[in-house]
Amino acid sequence: MKAVTVNPKTKDSLRLQDVPLPVPGKREVLLKVLRVGICGTDRDIISGFYGEAPSGSDYLILGHESLCRIEKLGKGVRDLKVGDLVVPTVRRSCPENCISCKNHESDMCYTGHYFEHGIKGLNGFAAEFAKSDSNYIVKMPESLSELGVLLEPLTVVEKGLIQTYSLQKSRLIWEPQRALVLGAGPVGILATALLRLRGLEVDTVATRSKDSLKARLVESTGATYLNSKETPLSSLDFKYDFVFEITGNPGVAYSAQDLIRVNGIVCYLGIYREDQETQNVGKVFTELVLGNKLHFGSVNANISYFQSGAKDLTKINKKWPSLLASMITRKAGPEDPQKIYNPDSEEDIKSIVEFAES
Ligand code: BGC
Repeated sequence: MKAVTVNPKTKDSLRLQDVPLPVPGKREVLLKVLRVGICGTDRDIISGFYGEAPSGSDYLILGHESLCRIEKLGKGVRDLKVGDLVVPTVRRSCPENCISCKNHESDMCYTGHYFEHGIKGLNGFAAEFAKSDSNYIVKMPESLSELGVLLEPLTVVEKGLIQTYSLQKSRLIWEPQRALVLGAGPVGILATALLRLRGLEVDTVATRSKDSLKARLVESTGATYLNSKETPLSSLDFKYDFVFEITGNPGVAYSAQDLIRVNGIVCYLGIYREDQETQNVGKVFTELVLGNKLHFGSVNANISYFQSGAKDLTKINKKWPSLLASMITRKAGPEDPQKIYNPDSEEDIKSIVEFAES
């Protein structure tokens, strides 16, 4: 079968390759892949900065954002049937089966020895077929047979949001009204929609102009789009109940703490370059203390966030029927991976590789 592969840590090794068809073992399922989404992590792996092949293999099949149908059930699989529309989660337990992994929270793995499909030690879904442990499969409604590929990026903010509420409610009386989203890539747009669904007033900041597609999609949810070139973050005099930082820019992340009010919270979802000068750290810590503020980071999502995310994705699609479809700005088959894996325009939001029809 055809698969999109790389040799991890080797720049420019991206290619379409013939690889053996996976065989599902006990409690595993064979998945027919419909489509996969491309994100910054895929691009980091392609650039050779990140990624790890499965043990004993020199290549890694890419793809962790996917939408699939069950093709075949391995022995002992219950609750799933051939033809079901599904999304597999990304992360799998560490070999030590730490207390988080044992309790279905591999997103909070203590050892760091977890596996991730398409990223770390396990082949991904950018292939005609793939296999997964059946315990990490989420059923999707047929209404999302085109757009369910956006579930995985949504789960990143689903987890951030659920943890934000639970952290805040464990320490104070919290009735948030206004949130700020820093970044308007796919995750920023989905974060904006999720917050609007919860009834919050949302401002979303990014560098694109106010008539860009990103700005229009943000505003279609009733949020306000701010262009950071016209409205620098330092000029915002409003203080937010919480901030989602998704730009991955350390300077922007640094300024987030100034944008929350007393008792506020910042959730960081980016990966930040480490080579920038440290700014005034003392000021950050003093503000944290005197303002009872909370900063936390969040990565990945366990199956519970995929399950609640599937419900939220359905709600988003009902409330703003053209939003999700408009986020998919490019679709192509896997024949020319160089082309589809490289962003080709400023208006590109989410690129999708199509392996089969829904
Ligand atoms: C994925 C996460 C993963 C993270 C780090 C992200 O792109 O969405 O599932 O944990 O990369 O590998």
